[in-house]
Amino acid sequence: MLKHLGEGPAATLIRLAALVQSAFDAESVTVQIDDHSAAAGQPGQPVLREPIRRAEVVVGRLALGRRRGGTYAAGDARRLEDYARLIEAVVAQAREQQRWQELAWHDDLSGLHNRRYFETKLDELLAHATAERQRLTVLLFDIDGFKSYNDHYGHDTGDALIREVAALLTRCSREHDVIARYGGDEFAVILWDAEKPRVPGSQHPHDPIALADRFRDAIGKHDFKCLGPDAPGPVTISGGLACFPWDGKTRAEVMRAADDGLLAAKRTGKNRIALANGGSVAPEGNPPSTE
Ligand code: GH3
Ligand code: MG
Repeated sequence: MLKHLGEGPAATLIRLAALVQSAFDAESVTVQIDDHSAAAGQPGQPVLREPIRRAEVVVGRLALGRRRGGTYAAGDARRLEDYARLIEAVVAQAREQQRWQELAWHDDLSGLHNRRYFETKLDELLAHATAERQRLTVLLFDIDGFKSYNDHYGHDTGDALIREVAALLTRCSREHDVIARYGGDEFAVILWDAEKPRVPGSQHPHDPIALADRFRDAIGKHDFKCLGPDAPGPVTISGGLACFPWDGKTRAEVMRAADDGLLAAKRTGKNRIALANGGSVAPEGNPPSTE
């Protein structure tokens, strides 16, 4: 139970319901605390009930259905009180652990997840993509000439620019894509399929190159409030796209491939997304990639 606290209060409550069911040999258990509820066993009429209290205030309820093949013993009502106290303490601990976890994975400046979260999630999603034989794409990008915004407008405006880029990135991405500030003026996105392909062996329904380029285009067209009306020109980004399993199979390989793409995009004129395996997507009028 304690090993799984990081899964959060809702998941912890499901485990607690199962634990109470086996401790009392109950046909059913329902438990509710704050805005979470869980059940175990077959739904049935409650036979034993116990309020869950926090500092004398009732914050939830614990109820047992009939005992399997018998009736409850005299001491079971007392035992249920102990379990109600245990549930309150364990759920509070799970909530606290989740709060610390969120802080550890959060980037304060941009409001996005940070690199630590990105790497944890990429490991998880690579394992999932391997098991499900799906592909997954990483986009790594960096703001072009970001230092000049800091130098010209000051560090606070540089910070505000990072925040506006983060907000735009969030708006342009799908809900399940993983977006993170990777460090400095660098951002990373995992584009993956939340659903299994409908036909075995079929490809992504969404084209990651198109998604990445849509984002590059949105940045270029965006009127950045923090730069005011006299902005020197469009803000541009350069990025690298790497696709699992072709460009790499492990996190290190995929990230190295995306970084190679990013460096190639910078070398070949910026304001473009370069593919790890060569080639790039650039706006019309830009010289083509020589990579
Ligand atoms: P390039 O086109 O090659 O990317 O050039 P660049 O000027 O953007 O240079 P680079 O990406 O190497 O430098 C990023 C700069 O971002 C360096 C650092 O001073 C600045 N920076 C890093 N973190 C922060 C931050 O949190 N806030 C602000 N305002 N600046 C930051
Ligand atoms: Mg930069």
